[in-house]
Amino acid sequence: MHLRDPKVSIVRCADQHQFDAVKESVIQATELIGGLESLITPGDHVMLKPNFICEADYKTGATTNPNVVFAVAELCKEMGAKKVTIAEGSAIGTDTDKVFDALGIRELARQHQCDVVNLIKDEFTYCMNPLGRNIKRIRLPRTFIESNVVINIPVMKTHDALAVTLGLKNLKGIIHQSDKKRFHKWGLSQTIVDLGHLAMPELTIIDGTIALEGMGPVVGKAVNLGLLLASTDTVAADRVAMEIMGFELSEVEYIKLAGEQGLGCTDLAQIKIVGQSLESVKRPFERLSLDPQILEEMDIRLVACDACSGCNNAISSYLYDQYLKGTLEKLRGCTLIYGQNPYIPEGNHGKIIRLGVCTRNVKMEQGIYVPGCPPHPMHIDDFVSGKGLERA
Ligand code: SF4
Repeated sequence: MHLRDPKVSIVRCADQHQFDAVKESVIQATELIGGLESLITPGDHVMLKPNFICEADYKTGATTNPNVVFAVAELCKEMGAKKVTIAEGSAIGTDTDKVFDALGIRELARQHQCDVVNLIKDEFTYCMNPLGRNIKRIRLPRTFIESNVVINIPVMKTHDALAVTLGLKNLKGIIHQSDKKRFHKWGLSQTIVDLGHLAMPELTIIDGTIALEGMGPVVGKAVNLGLLLASTDTVAADRVAMEIMGFELSEVEYIKLAGEQGLGCTDLAQIKIVGQSLESVKRPFERLSLDPQILEEMDIRLVACDACSGCNNAISSYLYDQYLKGTLEKLRGCTLIYGQNPYIPEGNHGKIIRLGVCTRNVKMEQGIYVPGCPPHPMHIDDFVSGKGLERA
């Protein structure tokens, strides 16, 4: 049973660069699922959580379109919200204040009479998470805790380690920086679901005005999709978005787990889609996968035994990235082992690279071990290149 209404609206946006056109689409998207007035009470403090991961403009597809964010902000004010706060904690290693400045968020917030909070600098409080499996206790920021309503506004993107990043994954931006680092160690897919149990927003509006395909979540190719999706069931919104992008549920571990653990609905037969039909808006996104023949020619062997989509995605995108950079040569003759039942193949296997915590106990005298669950593509390269190398 799902506590949230698995109804997802899909609307087209006539001009993603025009504030009034975007606002009209936001009104349509929210009215189709019951209207913002069903969520906002006069006097509320509303927190908006966009995806401002980096300084890249929304036209690249890497960050949420500010027209969407401020259209939502304006509508919340019209419903009587006393305070609207745009809150974000950008990616690790990125200065969130610089991101706000580069994207012009502070000036737009001033024009729309909103507050802006850098969540990295916020005050954090430990909260218990009884439904969490890997995280039972986690720090959450004061701005989030003190908000009456949270509206999540992710951008529709591919992701190098998770296949896609949408509503659920966008919540990771609210947590403490040191917990962000720990998420990979704790098991990224399950911890995203655990966080969802504690921090589920009242509404998710997925910004597909300009989406991102290929090498997401930052340096892929922009897709002028011109869509907005809205739902009070974040998992259902994610499920519909990934269907538009051409991904199967089995390819996105954390959304699959979210459905299995009752966080929301992933069954398309149970999700009520309103507005545009799913068939009319499908647009397969470019994947991060390499022609197997290229690997064969370079004598690179992949030994994947019962690998989750996390490891499959991370390793595919790592190899694809190396190929694009012209540095795949460093893996010539190597065997990459990963998956939940790893083993060392018989015969000549060259240098062995064990990837992911599942391979930690594979006995071998030499080679490289890359931790993580799944290992992050960037970390794989650090280990393979000798930075942070752990000899087995
Ligand atoms: S390390 Fe193991 S559990 Fe984690 S994603 Fe890879 S195969 Fe799955």
